[in-house]
Amino acid sequence: MPQKDKYDYIVTGGGCAGLSFILHVLREPSLAQKKILLIEREEKASNDRTWCYWEKDAGLFEEIVYRKWNKAWFHGGSYSSLKDLGAYSYKMIRGIDFYTHCHGIISRSGRVDRVKAAVTGIQNSTHGVEVVAGNQLFSGQYVFNSILFEQPQISSNCHYLLQHFKGWIIETPHPVFDPEHPTLMDFRVGQGEGTTFVYVMPFSTTRALVEFTLFTPNLLDHQSYDQGLKDYLKEFLQLEDYKVVEEEFGVIPMTDHEFPAQDGNILHMGTAGGQTKPSSGYTFRFIQKHAAAMVRQLVDKDTPFVNKPFWEKRFMWYDRVLLHMLFHKKMPGSRIFTLLFSRNPIQRIFRFLDNETSVSQELVLLNTLPQWPFMKAGWKELFK
Ligand SMILES: Cc1cc2nc3c(=O)[nH]c(=O)nc-3n(C[C@H](O)[C@H](O)[C@H](O)COP(=O)(O)OP(=O)(O)OC[C@H]3O[C@@H](n4cnc5c(N)ncnc54)[C@H](O)[C@@H]3O)c2cc1C
Repeated sequence: MPQKDKYDYIVTGGGCAGLSFILHVLREPSLAQKKILLIEREEKASNDRTWCYWEKDAGLFEEIVYRKWNKAWFHGGSYSSLKDLGAYSYKMIRGIDFYTHCHGIISRSGRVDRVKAAVTGIQNSTHGVEVVAGNQLFSGQYVFNSILFEQPQISSNCHYLLQHFKGWIIETPHPVFDPEHPTLMDFRVGQGEGTTFVYVMPFSTTRALVEFTLFTPNLLDHQSYDQGLKDYLKEFLQLEDYKVVEEEFGVIPMTDHEFPAQDGNILHMGTAGGQTKPSSGYTFRFIQKHAAAMVRQLVDKDTPFVNKPFWEKRFMWYDRVLLHMLFHKKMPGSRIFTLLFSRNPIQRIFRFLDNETSVSQELVLLNTLPQWPFMKAGWKELFK
């Protein structure tokens, strides 16, 4: 097997985490001499997903933000409110814009070798790491990996739900949408399958992304997502005359399974590295924070290892408790989210879901939920 030059950083998987990590590295003048290799098996030339996230300031990807909003609707069964997001904006990035933007910067830097091949093996070696891809052997000091090579073996102690969704970008012949006001969560739909909601991201008065989403253990058949979308459009937007111009389908694991973050000089990132928030499925911002933290370490200490402070582990416990409530159907997800959104300023909820609240803010937020069922779930999760 032909052996290639030694790299400082080999990035396996060029999706959100791999490309984000490279962009964070390229911004650092002190890492300018590092040799970087990216191995990705796909062209990344299609709009295969849309990322939504909230952020206070202009982030690293501000110039490719497709839409952003300062207010958003929340609808529960008998509660509806247009929320002012305060210091936050809710932002949307289209997958295709992200891939094109990142590859443009990578090309212009002239500092990253790219190989289009399937990675078939990664291992630690005496001098660092070795990666096998497309019948070639690459060696380096560190691998930054975002490929989930096999489905994790979930222990019976852990919860495993799927966040699954189908989205349509629709166009209407007449103005229907209010482009200033997206709907973050609409729980007025049937809850027979488990926690189910729709979100609507308007791009103009006649064009929007409408997504039918569930947090349940199993997927539905494809007709059920389509029916859910059709019913929602008819019942809540009085829409029967529209054209579906794009479709998106996705599954995000919602689990307290601990994905290994590191194995010797192999560092795992993205969903494969546990950067998906178990109780919400949001990942984009966690990927950015993780990439920034690893690069900070590389600049300061010449190693990428990031140790989470012990007290931050409490956020995993909160995630476990919420998953416990949903998985064991202790309380409908629609009720939990409606209580959260009707009794807390949305900024507090965003901070909490970002793992950025203080303990006192968490106590205030948790106090807005029914105490007895959550305390019972919390107790069980603490001593599992
Ligand atoms: C449809 C969809 C919508 C989402 N929307 C949101 C959202 O709105 N907000 C949010 O925060 N999160 C969202 N997520 C969750 C998460 O942000 C994304 O899944 C994100 O892409 C995860 O980044 P990643 O790098 O871990 O994985 P990916 O982006 O999937 O990257 C992994 C890469 O590895 C490559 N690869 C896989 N196997 C191999 C191999 N053997 N050899 C070489 N390359 C390989 C793949 O081609 C891929 O490019 C969404 C997920 C999906 C699926």
